[in-house]
Amino acid sequence: MPIKVYADHAATTPLCNAAWEAMVPFLRGEFGNPSSLHSWAKVPRKAIAEARATIAECIGANLEEIYFTSGGTESDNWVLKGTTGGLMVSTYEHHAVLNAAASEADRGREVVIVSPNSDGVIKPGALARKWKGGIGLVSVMMANNEIGTINPINLLAEAAHERGALFHTDAVQAVGHIPIDVHKLGVDFLSASAHKFNGPKGIGFLYVRNGLKLNQLINGGQQEAGMRAGTENVASIVGMAAALKENCRKMSINSERLYAHAKRFRDGIRSFCANAIFHTREEDNLLPGFVSVAFPGYSAEGLMHILDIKGIAVSTGAACDSKNTKISHVLKSLKIPASLAKSTIRVTFGPENAIADVIAIVTALESLLGNRNVKIAK
Ligand code: PLP
Repeated sequence: MPIKVYADHAATTPLCNAAWEAMVPFLRGEFGNPSSLHSWAKVPRKAIAEARATIAECIGANLEEIYFTSGGTESDNWVLKGTTGGLMVSTYEHHAVLNAAASEADRGREVVIVSPNSDGVIKPGALARKWKGGIGLVSVMMANNEIGTINPINLLAEAAHERGALFHTDAVQAVGHIPIDVHKLGVDFLSASAHKFNGPKGIGFLYVRNGLKLNQLINGGQQEAGMRAGTENVASIVGMAAALKENCRKMSINSERLYAHAKRFRDGIRSFCANAIFHTREEDNLLPGFVSVAFPGYSAEGLMHILDIKGIAVSTGAACDSKNTKISHVLKSLKIPASLAKSTIRVTFGPENAIADVIAIVTALESLLGNRNVKIAK
């Protein structure tokens, strides 16, 4: 029986019991349309209202500031396409932001690009150096999905506001994993996706600060206060709220465990591979359980496939890029040479991983280094 170790939680996470249990009634019995005028609408409508309140509480928002969407990609697109003026985005954003910005550039909007520093962090100075009049929105992710670095969002929001622009953060990797209070952070918009915090796929939300106007992305009925049309995905909305509540409740205990897993993994790698290159340092401000490491001379793709055969799932970069041998735009933006980027794997632990899982990955990697089949041909 092959071992089964899932260590790709930045790509997606398993559905937690709390989410599943909350969803079940709405998958069959309570199938009413929340917009109907008859009594079948009552329970689903109430469930949506409660889910909105739960989510708002988890991120320090008011409930009317939460809009349900189909996930992180839609939330990001909505903000970038629903605002006006020039855009400022960072080089290492997820493609949901980068490609939305590119599409806006095609429509004539100016797009200014800022880069992270060599530690993988975007500092307010980076915004200041590239500032141009007419920028209406700055979008910088809260935490990077390939290396796990966390950006100083409150300072970045302040820097944008001082210059008269709105501020959006793609917090898809951060929500449910690190404490977030939108009002303290001072952000205008925040994107989240349920499947990154043990909720269902295809559902997410967008925080929109009270009083802000965002042009509609999806036109149709009057759902979501007339801002986002489409019959609500009731089961997924309640599942998302239950998952977020559960993750927030367990956040400090989970993150302690995940930082310990990441440390154990780093120490394990160092014990047999002195020339492994970690793209972040342990003491950096990182998401819990996140390690990005290069094995010089080895093919990350080869390593990933053999680990997969052994029943171990890790990633070579963002999930949507794993079929694509293109160098990761995140590693490129950190000026990591292409040869090292090709040797980089991303290991992202989750709360269900045991210490034995960490040891299994280290042991499997140790046995693979030296294997000719995973070396990059000279
Ligand atoms: N933003 C970031 C930082 C992500 O990591 C992802 C997913 O990998 C997304 C956006 C897209 O979210 P979704 O899968 O919900 O569309």
